[in-house]
Amino acid sequence: MSKLLIVGTVAFDAIETPFGKTDKILGGAGTYIGLSASNFDVESAVVSVVGEDFPQEYLDLLTRNNINIDGIEIVEGGKTFFWSGRYHNDLNTRDTLDTQLNVLADFNPKVPDTFKDAEYVMLGNLHPLVQLSVLEQVENPKLVVLDTMNFWMDNTLEDLKKVIARVDVITINDEEARQLSGEHSLVKAARIIADMGPKYIVIKKGEHGALLFHQEQIFFAPALPLEEVFDPTGAGDTFAGGFIGYLARTNDVSFENMKSAIIYGSNLASFCVEKFGTERMESLDRSEVNERLNEFRKLTQYETKMN
Ligand code: AMP
Repeated sequence: MSKLLIVGTVAFDAIETPFGKTDKILGGAGTYIGLSASNFDVESAVVSVVGEDFPQEYLDLLTRNNINIDGIEIVEGGKTFFWSGRYHNDLNTRDTLDTQLNVLADFNPKVPDTFKDAEYVMLGNLHPLVQLSVLEQVENPKLVVLDTMNFWMDNTLEDLKKVIARVDVITINDEEARQLSGEHSLVKAARIIADMGPKYIVIKKGEHGALLFHQEQIFFAPALPLEEVFDPTGAGDTFAGGFIGYLARTNDVSFENMKSAIIYGSNLASFCVEKFGTERMESLDRSEVNERLNEFRKLTQYETKMN
């Protein structure tokens, strides 16, 4: 069985959407990626850091989902990373209300010895130097996927470029792809980003799906049109977890297989947004994922009566 190593925040989030508001709940990119990838029965581990205030029940939740937490450091007397955001009515845009780095400010990731030989590595959205440090600790991964955001492009572009040069796949949203490349056309943007290193570029367009670019080939996966979207937090991370979880499970990193991987990513993300925080991902079962795969098929398959 393939091993999947994930680095990302394990956090407290406080979220406001047009439908309601939460106090501090479980969040973090590492949490969402881990929960999403746990649907594929791969051996996975999350590397992260939390404070002494982080409830044991949240750690137990990860363990219950077969996620190895040996790489989650608990800092004595420290406070866990906290993020708070408010979504606009369109649910596609949000304002960050508060970011408290707390223990994340001095995070020095330590990959457990048992995961240094992981074949699959997911570098969740974090400071590029933290992502680089994880890359330095793994031996010879078969596939490295990087997720990042505009914040790092604005503040640490040179370090970010060093990481980008070393990964196989990058996942970013459309605006970030434009910012990173300086090109409005996503096709041209993908080409410029590919010149920076990654062989595969995944551009996420929120409720409008995701594009996968590889050399001259392009594949598009829709997002499932949902009657109700409750809370988009973690959708991007859940997408990434589904993408790499499927690749790790099938142990096939061809372009053809990546097409299926982005369908799985979209599939899992469509569940994530149905409830606040991680709630929906916690209750998700395989039959629901399989049923929704059929819905994805129906959404895009058609025949014409003319040649
Ligand atoms: P997403 O909605 O996929 O962009 O990810 C949301 C998650 O990212 C939340 O659960 C936050 O805890 C986490 N997050 C927010 N800001 C940051 C940041 N600056 N660095 C790392 N993780 C963050």
